[in-house]
Amino acid sequence: MNAYGLDARLTALGRQAYEWSADLRAAAQALDEEPDSIEDFLDLPGVRCLGTFGIPPGYAEPLTIGRHSYHGTTALERVVMTENLARGDMGLVLAAPGVSMSGVLMEQLGDQEQRDRFYGAVAASPTWTSFALTEPDRGSDASAITTALRRGGDGGFLLTGAKRYIGNGCRARFVSVLARTRPGPLGVTAVLVDTGRPGYRAEPLPTLGLRGARLSAVHLDDVEVEPWQVLGRHLSPARRGIWSCVQVFNRLRPTVAALALGVAAATHDYLAERRRFATGTDRDRIEDLGIRIAATRALVHRAAADVDATGRGRVASAAKARACALAEDVTLAACGLLGPAARANHPVLDKLVRDARGAEFMEGTRNIQHLNLFQGLLANETEVDLR
Ligand SMILES: Cc1cc2nc3c(=O)[nH]c(=O)nc-3n(C[C@H](O)[C@H](O)[C@H](O)COP(=O)(O)OP(=O)(O)OC[C@H]3O[C@@H](n4cnc5c(N)ncnc54)[C@H](O)[C@@H]3O)c2cc1C
Repeated sequence: MNAYGLDARLTALGRQAYEWSADLRAAAQALDEEPDSIEDFLDLPGVRCLGTFGIPPGYAEPLTIGRHSYHGTTALERVVMTENLARGDMGLVLAAPGVSMSGVLMEQLGDQEQRDRFYGAVAASPTWTSFALTEPDRGSDASAITTALRRGGDGGFLLTGAKRYIGNGCRARFVSVLARTRPGPLGVTAVLVDTGRPGYRAEPLPTLGLRGARLSAVHLDDVEVEPWQVLGRHLSPARRGIWSCVQVFNRLRPTVAALALGVAAATHDYLAERRRFATGTDRDRIEDLGIRIAATRALVHRAAADVDATGRGRVASAAKARACALAEDVTLAACGLLGPAARANHPVLDKLVRDARGAEFMEGTRNIQHLNLFQGLLANETEVDLR
């Protein structure tokens, strides 16, 4: 075990991903300026690896490093990979093809046919996938979903509604859409939409940060859904509705924390390099930020291990809240420590400041994470050192 609770296998994974992150760093500005240039970066080893990371055994070859192999199907593997690649560029990590959030949903809800079709397609060639919960005017409150799934002809269904801020929505071949079949928490269902079907339309939204991720507005106008596309069809409504959303978010939250941590670490690397000869309080501040990064990394790893062991996401809420606060603090401190007009003089820093803000909103803001954490503490579900 190293200082962050990682064994030799995970340490090797982190080292490899860190090595790959240099290519992502070099590509970051180009992707930020022209998000459609993602096609130019599909052969970078880190991006290629994300294309199949998260696909379970049997569908794709694992990533192999020395005598170790990895499928990316545990939260701990995902956070180690994600933090280190995000140290290169968080935007490129989000812009990469792969199973991403839909993979975690498929793990929870997919039956054999759904898994074969989904993982088979993503393993065959670089394929973008998206996860669509958030709606205009409704936000990401799963209980407030209005997108409707209703019966159509030939035993199938029709999907109607709108989603917003959907990462890669305009690039995706498959989108997992959360929809409503009837009022109440048991009326929420996930469907795997094939974006080639008539009625699916997505356009990219202009964003300040994470431009490569192509957050999109998605329009669903009577999109045909075949019975096989209804995820969790073999499960009871109680196991496939909002419960499944909570399970997915619990498992993904440490990865979002790792993205924010990657931004913080990238900024710290950049700052430490440019202020190598800092003295006095400046040097102390840079060192303090490094200590906070190390402590948050340990918490993120603990959160991932906890989710892998229990499926619960309370520690992950603490980790996500802390990592996002850290990303914001480190980027803003770097603006102060790199002198007047730092953002204008350091385009890399300017981008890191914008990206850190994006991480704060992904998968629930800090306020929502604090609520989740304290509900867990009140219910005696977890003990977290809040200092
Ligand atoms: C980079 C990025 C990528 C994204 N990707 C996706 C995606 O792929 N798929 C998808 O479905 N969505 C995606 N989203 C949307 C994202 O999940 C939501 O925007 C986010 O969860 C916030 O939810 P909301 O918009 O409902 O805002 P709210 O949760 O309503 O928050 C709005 C404000 O109110 C505050 N607030 C809310 N409730 C409380 C409370 N009880 N107490 C105190 N303060 C409160 C919040 O802190 C925040 O400041 C993405 C967003 C971003 C920025």
